[in-house]
This record gives sequence, C-alpha cells and structure tokens, in this order.
Amino acid sequence: MADLVIPALPPVVVPVQGGGLFPVRRVYCVGRNYAEHVKEMGNDLRDPPFFFAKPADALVIGGAPIAYPPQTEDFHHEIELVVAMGKDGTAIREHDALSHVYGYAVGLDMTRRDLQALAKKAGRPWTMAKGFDQSAPIGTIAPASVIGHPDRGAITLSVNGAERQRGDLSEQIWSVPETIAFLSRLVTLRAGDLIMTGTPAGVGAVRRRDVLEGAIEGVGTVSTVIA
Ligand code: MN
Repeated sequence: MADLVIPALPPVVVPVQGGGLFPVRRVYCVGRNYAEHVKEMGNDLRDPPFFFAKPADALVIGGAPIAYPPQTEDFHHEIELVVAMGKDGTAIREHDALSHVYGYAVGLDMTRRDLQALAKKAGRPWTMAKGFDQSAPIGTIAPASVIGHPDRGAITLSVNGAERQRGDLSEQIWSVPETIAFLSRLVTLRAGDLIMTGTPAGVGAVRRRDVLEGAIEGVGTVSTVIA
C-alpha cells in the first residue's frame, strides 16, 4: 500500500464505564424530540424526525473545558441522551433496533442559536450552528449489558448549580427504536456511530466561566466549563 502523504489522526474515542474505549465513527443528532422543546422553539409536533450531524472530533470527553466559540453571541446548551451503536444495519426494524445498541451516554448538543436562526430564515444548512469545534461534550458510555435500555428517567442540566433543563426520557416524541429505524432508512448505521436524541425544554444561553452539569437517571453524567 502507498504511504500516507500526511499523518493520519488517531481515532476519536469515548471511555466506557467499567473500562475500555468506544471508537466513534459518525455523530448524528435528532432535531426536535421533546414536545415542550418543540413548542418553545415554535415548531409543529406532528413533523417526522429529522437529522443533522456533528463531526466526530467535535466530541469533548472527561469534563474538559470548551472554548466559547467564535461568531456567536447566543451560545446555547442542549442536554441529550446519546445512543452508541454496536452493530451495523440498514433499514433496521423497530423491534430489532435495541439489539444494535452498545450503550448510552449523556451529551451536550452545544448550539450557536443565532447562527441557527439565520440558517433557518435563509433555508440554509445548520452545519455551522451545530457542527463546530468542541460542540459535543460527552460523558462515559454505559453499556446496555449493564444498564439496560432506558426509556424513562429524569434528564436534567444545571448551570452554575441552578437547574435550567428538566425532562424525562419517557417524553421523547420518537423513541430510541423509532429513531434508529428512521435514521437507518436514510443511511447505513455502523458500529461506532453515536445518535444524540434531542433535548427537553429549557434551552438557554451560557457565558464564559459557566459550569454545566448534566445527568440522566440510570445512565450517567456530563460536565464542562465554558473557558
Ligand atoms: Mn439537540
């Protein structure tokens, strides 16, 4: 085989509870998945799910600080359940979907809300509103073999100790199996893919030096500081 002409980067990995590292392939995100958040953003509850993506190297692990990103004055937090895929599949059936899941984590879909608003208005992609550097802090992955497949439980986010977001996984409009079924009809899902499954109500802006702490009952935690 010919030599690489520039050095290849090491794979992006997320630590697994109990040991080991999960190598990440792609990061997909569900747009609107909790009724109260759909309403706070002024959207229609009957819309089918839609998806966007973040680059794998936008993930930030271990509670590391993230930079306040450029080109925004409205940098928002979104706490989310993250699904880690453990098995490849195309057009996965709902009843089979959970057998494709390796585990779950808690993540933050950090968003440049002002750029998102401009993109929506102009009918342009959300890439620069969602897929920027350090836009996806994530906690450790809890294997489904240990915690099962959570479909209820509190999902919360606090900023500087004050609660900003609270919901319950049972309030998701599209369940994890439904989301996997939808998404795998659009693209082949591979082991190593992550799916961020949407955020409950209460999204809001953060400022430099804010401390973000998120948790999902039965899954784990995520934390970061805005540097
Ligand atoms: Mn989101």
